[in-house]
Amino acid sequence: MDCQICGAGGFKHLGSHVAKAHKMTAREYKQMFGLPLKRGLVTPELKQKLQEAFEDNKDVALANLTHGDKYQFKKGEPKRGETSPVAVEEATERIKEVNAKRWGTR
Ligand SMILES: [Zn+2]
Repeated sequence: MDCQICGAGGFKHLGSHVAKAHKMTAREYKQMFGLPLKRGLVTPELKQKLQEAFEDNKDVALANLTHGDKYQFKKGEPKRGETSPVAVEEATERIKEVNAKRWGTR
């Protein structure tokens, strides 16, 4: 994936480059070049990997989101009880919110 601002190429996650190098958000970049706001600035391969990683880790990811802390559990610590269906629902909503903010999806 190439940057259309400076011409540098081969980014797996163009959004990170754009943010660091050009001090703009992925959304601004997409607007500047008329790219669909719903599309992420990642290569299809990376997107696939991220999705797989999320699927593999879904229960943990949802539980951590519910607690609002990515690294809630330290290694060796006993885990807390089962995640309630309500908590999963809340977490799913939060993921949608986060994604909407990140990618401009509505
Ligand atoms: Zn660039």
